[in-house]
Amino acid sequence: MLRTADLVKVFRTQEVETTALNNVSITVAEGEFVAIMGPSGCGKSTLLNILGLLDNPTGGEFHFMGTEISKLKEKQRTNLRKGNIGFVFQSFNLIDELTVYENVELPLLYLGKSATDRKKMVMDVLERMNIAHRRNHFPQQLSGGQQQRVAIARAVVSKPKLILADEPTGNLDSTNGEEVMSLLTEQNQQGTTIVMVTHSPSDAEKAHRIVHLFDGQVVTENIKK
Ligand code: ADP
Ligand code: MG
Repeated sequence: MLRTADLVKVFRTQEVETTALNNVSITVAEGEFVAIMGPSGCGKSTLLNILGLLDNPTGGEFHFMGTEISKLKEKQRTNLRKGNIGFVFQSFNLIDELTVYENVELPLLYLGKSATDRKKMVMDVLERMNIAHRRNHFPQQLSGGQQQRVAIARAVVSKPKLILADEPTGNLDSTNGEEVMSLLTEQNQQGTTIVMVTHSPSDAEKAHRIVHLFDGQVVTENIKK
Protein backbone atom coordinates (compact mmCIF):
# COMPACT_ATOMS: atom_id res chain seq x y z
CA MET A 1 0.00 0.00 0.00
CA LEU A 2 2.71 2.46 1.00
CA ARG A 3 6.40 2.62 1.68
CA THR A 4 8.75 5.38 2.78
CA ALA A 5 12.53 5.31 2.54
CA ASP A 6 14.64 7.72 4.60
CA LEU A 7 11.83 10.23 4.76
CA VAL A 8 12.95 13.63 6.02
CA LYS A 9 10.89 16.66 6.96
CA VAL A 10 12.51 19.89 8.02
CA PHE A 11 10.42 22.90 9.04
CA ARG A 12 12.22 26.19 8.59
CA THR A 13 11.12 29.46 10.09
CA GLN A 14 13.18 32.66 10.21
CA GLU A 15 15.03 31.72 13.39
CA VAL A 16 14.68 28.00 13.86
CA GLU A 17 15.04 24.84 11.88
CA THR A 18 13.20 21.76 13.17
CA THR A 19 13.86 18.30 11.85
CA ALA A 20 10.47 16.70 12.46
CA LEU A 21 11.28 13.48 10.59
CA ASN A 22 14.78 12.11 10.38
CA ASN A 23 15.15 9.19 7.95
CA VAL A 24 11.88 7.41 8.57
CA SER A 25 11.51 4.15 6.64
CA ILE A 26 8.24 2.31 7.10
CA THR A 27 6.18 -0.06 5.01
CA VAL A 28 2.44 -0.63 5.39
CA ALA A 29 0.92 -3.56 3.54
CA GLU A 30 -2.57 -3.58 2.08
CA GLY A 31 -5.12 -4.56 4.74
CA GLU A 32 -2.81 -3.80 7.66
CA PHE A 33 -3.79 -1.84 10.76
CA VAL A 34 -0.75 0.01 12.08
CA ALA A 35 -0.55 2.18 15.20
CA ILE A 36 2.03 4.97 15.54
CA MET A 37 3.01 5.95 19.07
CA GLY A 38 5.54 8.29 20.62
CA PRO A 39 5.85 11.35 22.85
CA SER A 40 4.36 14.71 21.95
CA GLY A 41 6.41 16.52 19.29
CA CYS A 42 8.19 13.41 17.98
CA GLY A 43 6.76 13.82 14.46
CA LYS A 44 3.64 11.62 14.45
CA SER A 45 1.30 14.18 12.87
CA THR A 46 3.98 15.30 10.44
CA LEU A 47 4.39 11.71 9.26
CA LEU A 48 0.65 11.13 8.99
CA ASN A 49 0.15 14.35 7.01
CA ILE A 50 2.82 13.29 4.53
CA LEU A 51 1.32 9.79 4.23
CA GLY A 52 -2.03 11.48 3.62
CA LEU A 53 -0.59 13.65 0.82
CA LEU A 54 -1.49 16.74 2.82
CA ASP A 55 2.16 17.79 3.11
CA ASN A 56 5.36 17.17 1.15
CA PRO A 57 8.56 15.67 2.55
CA THR A 58 11.85 17.58 2.39
CA GLY A 59 13.76 14.45 1.43
CA GLY A 60 13.58 10.70 0.99
CA GLU A 61 11.07 8.62 -0.90
CA PHE A 62 7.38 8.00 -0.49
CA HIS A 63 5.76 5.35 -2.65
CA PHE A 64 1.98 5.31 -2.47
CA MET A 65 0.12 2.56 -4.31
CA GLY A 66 3.08 1.99 -6.58
CA THR A 67 3.82 5.64 -7.40
CA GLU A 68 6.72 7.74 -6.15
CA ILE A 69 4.91 10.80 -4.92
CA SER A 70 7.56 13.40 -5.77
CA LYS A 71 7.11 12.53 -9.44
CA LEU A 72 3.50 13.69 -9.38
CA LYS A 73 2.12 17.11 -10.13
CA GLU A 74 0.07 18.82 -7.42
CA LYS A 75 -3.17 18.08 -9.24
CA GLN A 76 -2.35 14.36 -9.64
CA ARG A 77 -1.48 14.19 -5.96
CA THR A 78 -4.80 15.78 -5.00
CA ASN A 79 -6.71 13.32 -7.18
CA LEU A 80 -4.80 10.39 -5.69
CA ARG A 81 -5.65 11.65 -2.21
CA LYS A 82 -9.33 12.29 -2.86
CA GLY A 83 -9.83 8.96 -4.58
CA ASN A 84 -8.03 6.75 -2.08
CA ILE A 85 -7.50 8.31 1.34
CA GLY A 86 -9.85 9.11 4.20
CA PHE A 87 -8.32 11.34 6.89
CA VAL A 88 -9.65 11.60 10.45
CA PHE A 89 -8.26 14.73 12.11
CA GLN A 90 -7.75 14.95 15.84
CA SER A 91 -9.68 18.20 15.91
CA PHE A 92 -12.47 16.70 13.73
CA ASN A 93 -12.14 19.54 11.17
CA LEU A 94 -15.85 19.55 10.39
CA ILE A 95 -17.22 22.56 8.55
CA ASP A 96 -19.40 24.54 10.96
CA GLU A 97 -21.61 26.04 8.24
CA LEU A 98 -22.58 22.65 6.84
CA THR A 99 -24.95 20.11 8.38
CA VAL A 100 -23.84 16.62 9.35
CA TYR A 101 -25.28 15.32 6.08
CA GLU A 102 -23.49 17.98 4.00
CA ASN A 103 -20.15 17.44 5.76
CA VAL A 104 -20.26 13.73 4.98
CA GLU A 105 -21.43 14.33 1.41
CA LEU A 106 -18.44 16.58 0.61
CA PRO A 107 -15.91 13.89 -0.48
CA LEU A 108 -18.54 12.44 -2.83
CA LEU A 109 -19.14 15.84 -4.41
CA TYR A 110 -15.37 16.13 -5.03
CA LEU A 111 -15.46 12.72 -6.69
CA GLY A 112 -18.34 13.76 -8.92
CA LYS A 113 -20.81 11.10 -7.73
CA SER A 114 -24.42 11.44 -8.91
CA ALA A 115 -27.08 12.82 -6.56
CA THR A 116 -28.70 9.38 -6.25
CA ASP A 117 -25.40 7.67 -5.38
CA ARG A 118 -24.51 10.41 -2.92
CA LYS A 119 -27.77 10.11 -1.05
CA LYS A 120 -27.48 6.35 -0.73
CA MET A 121 -23.81 6.38 0.31
CA VAL A 122 -24.25 9.20 2.86
CA MET A 123 -27.34 7.65 4.47
CA ASP A 124 -25.70 4.21 4.58
CA VAL A 125 -22.67 5.48 6.42
CA LEU A 126 -24.65 7.76 8.76
CA GLU A 127 -26.78 4.80 9.77
CA ARG A 128 -23.73 2.61 10.25
CA MET A 129 -22.17 5.31 12.47
CA ASN A 130 -25.43 5.63 14.39
CA ILE A 131 -25.74 9.34 13.66
CA ALA A 132 -28.42 9.46 10.93
CA HIS A 133 -30.97 11.00 13.30
CA ARG A 134 -28.66 14.04 13.59
CA ARG A 135 -28.16 14.52 9.85
CA ASN A 136 -29.72 18.00 9.78
CA HIS A 137 -27.82 19.25 12.81
CA PHE A 138 -24.73 21.44 12.64
CA PRO A 139 -21.42 20.27 14.17
CA GLN A 140 -21.67 22.74 17.09
CA GLN A 141 -24.97 21.11 18.13
CA LEU A 142 -23.29 17.74 18.67
CA SER A 143 -21.22 16.23 21.48
CA GLY A 144 -17.53 15.49 20.92
CA GLY A 145 -18.26 11.80 20.45
CA GLN A 146 -20.93 12.54 17.86
CA GLN A 147 -18.63 14.96 16.02
CA GLN A 148 -15.92 12.31 15.87
CA ARG A 149 -18.43 9.81 14.45
CA VAL A 150 -19.30 12.35 11.75
CA ALA A 151 -15.58 12.87 11.05
CA ILE A 152 -15.16 9.12 10.64
CA ALA A 153 -18.28 8.91 8.47
CA ARG A 154 -16.76 11.58 6.22
CA ALA A 155 -13.45 9.68 6.08
CA VAL A 156 -15.06 6.37 5.10
CA VAL A 157 -18.03 7.45 2.95
CA SER A 158 -16.15 7.19 -0.35
CA LYS A 159 -14.84 3.72 0.63
CA PRO A 160 -11.17 4.77 0.61
CA LYS A 161 -8.44 2.14 0.43
CA LEU A 162 -6.52 3.85 3.24
CA ILE A 163 -7.73 5.55 6.41
CA LEU A 164 -5.33 7.77 8.33
CA ALA A 165 -6.46 8.77 11.81
CA ASP A 166 -4.60 11.28 14.01
CA GLU A 167 -5.42 10.53 17.66
CA PRO A 168 -9.03 9.68 16.78
CA THR A 169 -9.94 9.05 20.43
CA GLY A 170 -7.79 11.85 21.87
CA ASN A 171 -10.72 14.17 22.57
CA LEU A 172 -13.24 11.54 23.64
CA ASP A 173 -14.33 9.92 26.89
CA SER A 174 -13.69 6.20 27.18
CA THR A 175 -17.15 5.03 26.00
CA ASN A 176 -17.02 7.14 22.85
CA GLY A 177 -13.39 6.21 22.38
CA GLU A 178 -14.22 2.50 22.42
CA GLU A 179 -16.98 3.05 19.91
CA VAL A 180 -14.64 4.90 17.56
CA MET A 181 -12.09 2.09 17.89
CA SER A 182 -14.67 -0.55 17.08
CA LEU A 183 -15.74 1.44 13.98
CA LEU A 184 -12.12 1.60 12.81
CA THR A 185 -11.56 -2.10 13.53
CA GLU A 186 -14.71 -2.92 11.55
CA GLN A 187 -13.42 -0.89 8.58
CA ASN A 188 -10.13 -2.75 8.76
CA GLN A 189 -11.91 -6.12 8.83
CA GLN A 190 -13.68 -5.07 5.65
CA GLY A 191 -10.30 -4.66 3.98
CA THR A 192 -9.40 -0.99 4.54
CA THR A 193 -5.77 -0.30 5.44
CA ILE A 194 -5.48 1.86 8.57
CA VAL A 195 -2.66 3.93 10.02
CA MET A 196 -3.57 5.49 13.34
CA VAL A 197 -1.63 7.80 15.64
CA THR A 198 -2.49 7.25 19.28
CA HIS A 199 -1.33 7.95 22.81
CA SER A 200 -3.49 5.17 24.20
CA PRO A 201 -1.85 1.76 24.73
CA SER A 202 -5.28 0.10 24.77
CA ASP A 203 -6.16 1.63 21.37
CA ALA A 204 -2.77 0.57 19.99
CA GLU A 205 -3.55 -2.99 21.13
CA LYS A 206 -6.28 -3.10 18.47
CA ALA A 207 -3.70 -2.68 15.69
CA HIS A 208 -1.65 -5.48 14.11
CA ARG A 209 1.58 -3.63 14.68
CA ILE A 210 2.93 -0.65 16.60
CA VAL A 211 5.58 1.70 15.22
CA HIS A 212 7.28 3.77 17.94
CA LEU A 213 8.68 7.16 16.97
CA PHE A 214 11.10 9.19 19.05
CA ASP A 215 12.59 12.50 18.01
CA GLY A 216 11.69 12.00 14.35
CA GLN A 217 13.02 8.46 14.11
CA VAL A 218 11.51 5.00 14.22
CA VAL A 219 12.86 3.38 17.38
CA THR A 220 11.02 0.05 17.50
CA GLU A 221 8.40 -1.82 15.58
CA ASN A 222 6.36 -4.33 17.56
CA ILE A 223 4.61 -7.03 15.64
CA LYS A 224 1.70 -8.22 17.74
CA LYS A 225 -0.41 -10.46 15.56
P1 ADP B 1 3.47 15.04 17.23
O1 ADP B 1 2.27 14.88 16.34
O2 ADP B 1 4.25 13.77 17.40
O3 ADP B 1 3.11 15.65 18.54
P2 ADP B 1 4.35 16.93 15.20
O4 ADP B 1 4.52 16.06 14.02
O5 ADP B 1 3.13 17.76 15.25
O6 ADP B 1 4.49 16.06 16.53
O7 ADP B 1 5.60 17.89 15.32
C1 ADP B 1 6.95 17.44 15.22
C2 ADP B 1 7.90 18.62 15.34
O8 ADP B 1 7.77 19.46 14.21
C3 ADP B 1 7.63 19.50 16.55
O9 ADP B 1 8.86 19.95 17.04
C4 ADP B 1 6.82 20.63 15.98
O10 ADP B 1 7.00 21.81 16.72
C5 ADP B 1 7.40 20.77 14.59
N1 ADP B 1 6.39 21.27 13.62
C6 ADP B 1 5.25 20.62 13.24
N2 ADP B 1 4.57 21.34 12.33
C7 ADP B 1 5.30 22.47 12.11
C8 ADP B 1 5.14 23.61 11.26
N3 ADP B 1 4.09 23.73 10.44
N4 ADP B 1 6.09 24.57 11.31
C9 ADP B 1 7.17 24.45 12.13
N5 ADP B 1 7.38 23.42 12.95
C10 ADP B 1 6.47 22.41 12.95
MG1 MG C 1 0.23 15.27 16.67
